[in-house]
Amino acid sequence: MNIHEYQAKQLLAKYGVAVPRGEVAFSAAEAEVAAQQLPGPVWVVKAQIHAGGRGKGGGVKVVKSVQDVKSAAERMIGMNLVTHQTGPEGKRVKRVYVEEGCDIVRELYLSLLIDRATSSVTLMASTEGGMDIEEVAGKTPEKILKVAIDSAIGLRPYHARKLAFGLGLEGAQVRSATQFFSSLYRAFLDLDASLIEINPLVVKGNGELIALDAKMNFDDNGLFRHQNIEALRDEDEEDPAELEASKHELNYIKLDGSIGCMVNGAGLAMATMDIIKLYGADPANFLDVGGGATAERVTAAFKLILSDKNVKGILVNIFGGIMRCDVIAKGIVSAANEVDLHVPLVVRLEGTNVAMGKEILNRSGLNIVSADDLGDAAAKIVAAVREVA
Ligand code: ADP
Ligand code: MG
Repeated sequence: MNIHEYQAKQLLAKYGVAVPRGEVAFSAAEAEVAAQQLPGPVWVVKAQIHAGGRGKGGGVKVVKSVQDVKSAAERMIGMNLVTHQTGPEGKRVKRVYVEEGCDIVRELYLSLLIDRATSSVTLMASTEGGMDIEEVAGKTPEKILKVAIDSAIGLRPYHARKLAFGLGLEGAQVRSATQFFSSLYRAFLDLDASLIEINPLVVKGNGELIALDAKMNFDDNGLFRHQNIEALRDEDEEDPAELEASKHELNYIKLDGSIGCMVNGAGLAMATMDIIKLYGADPANFLDVGGGATAERVTAAFKLILSDKNVKGILVNIFGGIMRCDVIAKGIVSAANEVDLHVPLVVRLEGTNVAMGKEILNRSGLNIVSADDLGDAAAKIVAAVREVA
């Protein structure tokens, strides 16, 4: 789950991470009031969307009066902000953050993430602040510093000093960095974050470090422990299909192809997508209905697949282990009856109660092509989609 910059800053401030003062605003009038609470003489108006690259896209404005805060907010709220992270369709701005202007001596990059290669929480830093870190990693990988933190030992002052020296900090800056890193690390662990990215991390004129931007992602599996974070979810920012999927506990990721897939188990879902490609077509989605799906969940999954206009055919590939093939079959029949099934459907069922499942499908009167194995299923759905096209 993602949250907005201002929400991340509020959370981090509670852990002692230095952030500029600011206030969120949902209208130009609110932005004006927010600006009056700050001393000036410089204010920054920042569009709040779940995407980075706002600065380059016109979503960050530095201004010198309360009146200018108001007019910048007026222009920003309601605008469709396009950045390299939003895709060409952009994102509608519904709230802005009014923040005090900061005197910037240096812009650095800092993040905390879970590095799968070392299975540890890792601090990553670079002198190239404000830039896209993927670009830095691609062009100048030597400029990325990493410190893996052993969870049994935790973040130690020597870790922090190593990074601080690597970033070229000195004197009071090193002390400020040590405190900054350890506060950030505590927040990361405490809140079950999966990523905290501070880009830029700024060195101010007085040597202190401050987070000028903040991005936080959370591990969905830990959210039940953090109702205050769950409450920050902004449904406007989420893909409607993926949001619907999460309500039914379905793992759904929309893709660009034309063959909708409904599979149980993430591994089998990956294999199904691979084999569709092997037969010359592209999957429209990744969808894992899980091990113990009910007929209702299968119905929801079916509707989700069909809500994608690009879907020209559906391949259901279920291996009934814990999941029973008859339950799947009932779900398919009820979903197909409920929605207007206008595309070819190939079903490959195997496992527990497979005979019952096949019989339910055969007697349903629906136009379902049954397949015997994965290769057969992929060949049939690809052929059926070609025929329609
Ligand atoms: P994004 O990463 O989405 O472009 P940032 O919050 O990183 O947005 O802001 C982009 C740039 O705007 C920063 O690199 C910094 O130079 C400037 N900026 C952002 N906030 C402030 C602030 N409070 N004071 C001064 N400059 C700022
Ligand atoms: Mg940034």
